[in-house]
Amino acid sequence: MIRICVAGATGRMGKTIISEAVSRGFEIVGAVASPNNPGLGKTLRELGICDIDLPLHGPSKLREALERADVYVSFTTPEAELSNIPEVVNMNKRIVMGTTGFAKEQLEKLKSLVSSKVPAVFAPNFSLSMNLMLKMLKSLVHLPEEYEISIVEAHHSGKRDAPSGTALSIANLISALRGYTRVVHGREGVSPRIRDELEVLSVRAGGIPGIHEVIIAGPYDMISIRHTSFSRSAFALGALYAVEWVMKQERPGVYSIDDVLSGSGG
Ligand code: NAP
Repeated sequence: MIRICVAGATGRMGKTIISEAVSRGFEIVGAVASPNNPGLGKTLRELGICDIDLPLHGPSKLREALERADVYVSFTTPEAELSNIPEVVNMNKRIVMGTTGFAKEQLEKLKSLVSSKVPAVFAPNFSLSMNLMLKMLKSLVHLPEEYEISIVEAHHSGKRDAPSGTALSIANLISALRGYTRVVHGREGVSPRIRDELEVLSVRAGGIPGIHEVIIAGPYDMISIRHTSFSRSAFALGALYAVEWVMKQERPGVYSIDDVLSGSGG
């Protein structure tokens, strides 16, 4: 049985991870939330998160939360990752991290800290079918230049970062394939599209778990490829799949969900 410590245990993703992990036979041995959480010290059962008598810890008790864990599974904030992950690495624990919204330098810093120490999977989107969509998008390299591409993403109004980490991954992929040099995040007034621009538009409304649509429009026809998450369980399932995979990795390194699905590493 794989033992996991969940950081962000009181959050939308953390709660989903815990409920999917319990029903799939993982053991929850640690749970961490922010230092300000009013439930610190109470058990997950008392907090109504799941039927386990495990205390919720703040980051100051991270060592305690990690002690029995094989893998640290984290969906929190960039600031939390930057302060918690060095401790996780010191304790030589494997990592599965889904947090988004990092500045480029922050993510590079984390990767260089982790890559020579422990096996880890970092992914801005753990949905397995989103990964398939990314593979499909690679065929855009064959379309003539007249076809213009736009990305539209929609998420719940509690999401902090925009565009989403996934939309940024799609944008990077498309820019590399199609030679876009500029990204435009909205239009207002007189603002026609120019040739080197990629549009990436964000919508924040209600409880939408996540929609990413890529519109590929030529002068006379268009196609759109859309990925819709029905629930956060789609991400939790992928993250738990990554937990099983990272347990089998002998070599330290920061791996992607693509590595997990292609069965590389080992
Ligand atoms: P959320 O509901 O706001 O939850 C954030 C969690 O982080 C809360 O439990 C919060 O604790 C906790 N936290 C804050 N500071 C912490 C610290 N210093 N140490 C430990 N925990 C801390 O957010 P969410 O919707 O679950 O999303 C979390 C992250 O995952 C975001 O970056 C989001 O974009 C990303 N995400 C990724 C995927 C993917 O597939 N990769 C999918 C969905 C979301 P309190 O409750 O005490 O504040």
